[in-house]
Amino acid sequence: MILELKKTFQFEAAHHLPHLPPTHKCNRLHGHSFSTQLVVRGECDPKLGWVMDYAEISHAFKPIWEQLDHYYLNNIDGLDNPTSENLAVWIWDRLKPTLPLLIEVTVAETCTAQCTYRGE
Ligand SMILES: [Zn+2]
Repeated sequence: MILELKKTFQFEAAHHLPHLPPTHKCNRLHGHSFSTQLVVRGECDPKLGWVMDYAEISHAFKPIWEQLDHYYLNNIDGLDNPTSENLAVWIWDRLKPTLPLLIEVTVAETCTAQCTYRGE
């Protein structure tokens, strides 16, 4: 029996998108209450009744979250152009090695705008 677990984390961060025209609002320095949803997929352990401990997801994501929360994203290695797209890939690349069941990373910079990466 295969199931998926989803866990959502929040972080506050500032950024600007330097490749957009200077007249675009996202070229200006601003901040978001970002939300990241991680999805893992795997076999449900018949005895434990779960795919994995949600706490393991939190543990794997913590060092990444600590690099993002309350930082200026443009200053982080690999995030000089911190769009939601690039952020989702950046998180995937750092998380997948320690969370092999990961199948999806979603980054939302507002309640109505989000981007999903599945490692392809
Ligand atoms: Zn923004």
